[in-house]
Amino acid sequence: MKQRAVITGGAGFLGSHLCERFLSEGWDVLCVDNLLTGNKDNVAHLEALDSFEFLEHDVTKYIDVDGPVDAILHFASPASPIDYLELPIQTLKVGSLGTHNALGLARAKGARFLIASTSECYGDPLVHPQTEDYWGNVNPVGPRGVYDEAKRFSEAMTMAYHRYHGVDTRIIRIFNTYGPRMRLNDGRALPAFMSQALQGKPLTVFGDGSQTRSFCYVDDLVEGIWRLLASDFHEPVNVGNPSEMTIREFADKVIALTNSGSTVTYQELPEDDPKVRQPDITRARAVLGWEPKVQLDEGLERTLGWFKKRVQVQGEAPSEG
Ligand code: NAD
Ligand code: UDP
Repeated sequence: MKQRAVITGGAGFLGSHLCERFLSEGWDVLCVDNLLTGNKDNVAHLEALDSFEFLEHDVTKYIDVDGPVDAILHFASPASPIDYLELPIQTLKVGSLGTHNALGLARAKGARFLIASTSECYGDPLVHPQTEDYWGNVNPVGPRGVYDEAKRFSEAMTMAYHRYHGVDTRIIRIFNTYGPRMRLNDGRALPAFMSQALQGKPLTVFGDGSQTRSFCYVDDLVEGIWRLLASDFHEPVNVGNPSEMTIREFADKVIALTNSGSTVTYQELPEDDPKVRQPDITRARAVLGWEPKVQLDEGLERTLGWFKKRVQVQGEAPSEG
């Protein structure tokens, strides 16, 4: 019997890569997305397949799915800081009501459930690198609180459905992931720096650029998700690349990779921007036998083609007015 996955947020950056992976493993896929921050173009190449279905739907409303479902991967949520600052209520609703609906669907169908949680659960961390048993340092009433607390709530709701209803759940804490299909203007560091470098504009480094991040290539992340779903592990698992660098170093790397003449310009650091971030992946290594394979230089090279094409298309578009 063919297995069937429901992937919420499937028309987004990560969701579209997940749809591809499940289809290539021989699954049927129902992609559920309201296109709030995603785009149907991300899954346009899948639409001719009999095994792929697209449902335009807001998962904060009851999710009605006919037929059997074996796994639900709940990825619907604005994810870039710019998006969730512009969409605070939708972000809180999709993390809370959306997660509740997706868990309800999992319970009704007897399906496995995996929630896309985040390193933002650790907030501006006081433990470094971050281990899963660290409870975090989140400002609930700051601007990022809408995302961080929605995700923390969604983890709590997931554990409640597991403990109380016996739903077979998984929680992945995803650290900064990049790759093709990120939106040029989604405001995250990589799309911002690549599009600025390709256009010869100054790279906008926030603060003094000494804050750190650790960047994971999307194929590595998808492999981690695949393995976690196949495991029988219910506690949160960090998945990310532990190779950590300052944002200033990251900007320099992008300038070098693109052979750009761009300089760097410093702008104000957003409120509550975490000062450090690096996943401790001991658990992922032990439980999933997983670790990242794609080095940053190779991952950036693979991503560059996508951004080059986008920048060209944007450059070719007739200017307004
Ligand atoms: P994205 O914005 O590209 O994708 C999110 C998708 O969810 C979009 O297609 C959007 O239209 C959809 N969506 C939002 N609200 C919805 C709703 N109410 N109903 C249905 N669909 C809805 O972002 P992404 O980077 O692909 O992130 C996907 C998931 O992974 C998110 O849950 C995010 O929190 C999580 N995550 C991502 C990263 C990362 O580095 N990319 C890191 C940590 C966690
Ligand atoms: N950042 C930056 N310039 C930009 C976009 C982001 O300096 O144009 C910084 C941001 O302040 C943060 C880091 O890069 O310290 C990563 O930001 P991103 O939005 O990619 O994700 P975050 O890890 O903050 O969720």
